Amino acid sequence: MDGFKAIWLLYWSRIGKKMDRADGFAARPSKVRPAASIAAGIPFGPSVSIPLTIHTHTVTNQVPPLLDYDAFATDRALTEAVTREGAAWARAALADYGCRVGGELLALGFEANRHRPVLRTHDRCGHRIDEVDFHPSYHALLRAAVSAGVHSFAWRDPKPGAHVARAALSYLHHQAEAGTSCPLTMTYAAIPVLGRSQRVREQWMAKAISAEYDGRHVPAAQKGGVTLGMGMTEKQGGSDVRANSTLAHALGGDEYALVGHKWFFSAPMSDAFLVLAQAQEGLSCFLLPRWRPDGTPNAMQLMRLKDKLGNWSNASGEVEFNGAWAQRIGDEGRGVATILEMVALTRLDCMLGSAAEMRRALVEAIHHARHRRAFGKLLVDQPLMRNVLADLALESEAATVFAMRVARAVDASPRDPREAAFARIATAVGKYWICKRAPAFVNEAQECLGGAGYVEESILPRLYREAPLNSIWEGCGNIQCLDVLRALAREPESRDAVLAELAASAHLDSALAREVETLKGTLSDMKDIEAGARFVVERLALVLQAAVLLRAGNDALAHSFCRSRLDGRHGLAFGTLSTDMPFAAMIERAWPA
Ligand SMILES: Cc1cc2nc3c(=O)[nH]c(=O)nc-3n(C[C@H](O)[C@H](O)[C@H](O)COP(=O)(O)OP(=O)(O)OC[C@H]3O[C@@H](n4cnc5c(N)ncnc54)[C@H](O)[C@@H]3O)c2cc1C
Repeated sequence: MDGFKAIWLLYWSRIGKKMDRADGFAARPSKVRPAASIAAGIPFGPSVSIPLTIHTHTVTNQVPPLLDYDAFATDRALTEAVTREGAAWARAALADYGCRVGGELLALGFEANRHRPVLRTHDRCGHRIDEVDFHPSYHALLRAAVSAGVHSFAWRDPKPGAHVARAALSYLHHQAEAGTSCPLTMTYAAIPVLGRSQRVREQWMAKAISAEYDGRHVPAAQKGGVTLGMGMTEKQGGSDVRANSTLAHALGGDEYALVGHKWFFSAPMSDAFLVLAQAQEGLSCFLLPRWRPDGTPNAMQLMRLKDKLGNWSNASGEVEFNGAWAQRIGDEGRGVATILEMVALTRLDCMLGSAAEMRRALVEAIHHARHRRAFGKLLVDQPLMRNVLADLALESEAATVFAMRVARAVDASPRDPREAAFARIATAVGKYWICKRAPAFVNEAQECLGGAGYVEESILPRLYREAPLNSIWEGCGNIQCLDVLRALAREPESRDAVLAELAASAHLDSALAREVETLKGTLSDMKDIEAGARFVVERLALVLQAAVLLRAGNDALAHSFCRSRLDGRHGLAFGTLSTDMPFAAMIERAWPA
């Protein structure tokens, strides 16, 4: 017998014994290939009975699909964060949306991603029409989200906590379907910029915050509600938007004609877009509607749609402006400063979106492990799988609570300068770290499902394709890190706000206290720090996540985070927690059985 056959013989004889013992396998009518015939090299020897019916086997040990669950009530990290960060008053609305997210919207999400949008540049007679057809499920998802206020809850009733509630809605919606989150986020984030021009505000604001969704391709004047997009990235540069080459020719007053292009232009059927273009005084911000005021189509042509890795329900186009009519918002030459108000909010949603993807993947992983058996036990009872699941639960909760903490800072910004300073820097820190963690996290959760996690019928492949997007869109990782350095160097109030946040929790954990002291040393000498910015921002993210977890009061979880993420008791992969950590409690908290 050669070595290869000997290994097979040993493997099958062990597996065979385990299978006989394992529940679910004992009753299987199919025969395991006998070790002797493998050893002899006889394919499927005479001891194997081949049934003559088409019923080859009984299906056992498969996991029931996770349907119709309450995505809000089952998420303790979220429900507690909503209360802690000041939006307890919105719980009823969130509970309602949470039920829809775990049921009908989830089902629509599968449909919307199965049928990708199609660009129609011309009609049958050769006229340009520049329309994108979306599947009805895409519109149904947007209709549900707009009526729930995923894009505008905070603007419709701007009382304290409203941005926290809106953040929770966005986090919930993203778990059902991420592609529609794009126009929802852009609309939410563009709304304060609309307010900077009286004329634009009067024409657009009420429709932008409306609870009515209207996906028809008709002028905004005929609609009760509108959605908004954004165009900054051009072929020659996305990070470096000052290199934008699109020109804005003054027509008089705040009106301009735009000539140029945009290289990424998502949700191109939005009713209007905030775009950057070069005017006489420099880069300026404009509102460019799909239709001119006279009711004719604006001079923007959709050239093609990107063939994207993921985000399939949603379209991202390339567009040309051939004298497109637009209204200036803010002063000429102040375009970046004007649109940054929008970018700050879309970055918050990148963080929330990645946290939501992690949450959605975690839930699937725990659900699967609670139903699937291998080697005689449920996966969730296998010690090593418990370590993986507990570690994922820890990462997911840290991402959720930090994103919600930043949402509170955004919420409080108009009333509290320290919170505004905190939001400024923490948004970039969180956008960098949470978005960076999502792809590895989703892959690990996918692995918990084994082969099923690689198959489209589970949501994991879709989440996996989606996971890298938030780290790229609205500024890649390096850009976020450079932004953090800029804030630390130029805005002492941002640095003070971070240190104050850390000081409030550092005494609660010795590892955190040590790390905060180390960070203070690093921040006291920022000379030549650029090349090391990623390490600094990563440590900042970890201490801030630890601080929020400690303040939240779940001691076992928070100290586990500090030991593993700050005290070096963790490997580079998930599932490398110290074995004395309360795995069962961490898993149960994440997804109650
Ligand atoms: C699906 C999708 C949808 C999008 N939708 C839109 C949209 O609707 N509107 C829109 O305006 N844009 C959109 N974008 C574009 C996106 O925001 C840009 O791709 C992103 O900002 C990066 O710009 P870039 O592609 O030009 O890369 P570049 O700017 O060329 O950057 C490439 C890399 O270089 C790094 N880098 C750049 N400068 C530095 C530096 N100084 N130091 C170190 N590293 C540096 C970056 O971090 C990045 O990793 C979308 C992108 C995607 C993938």
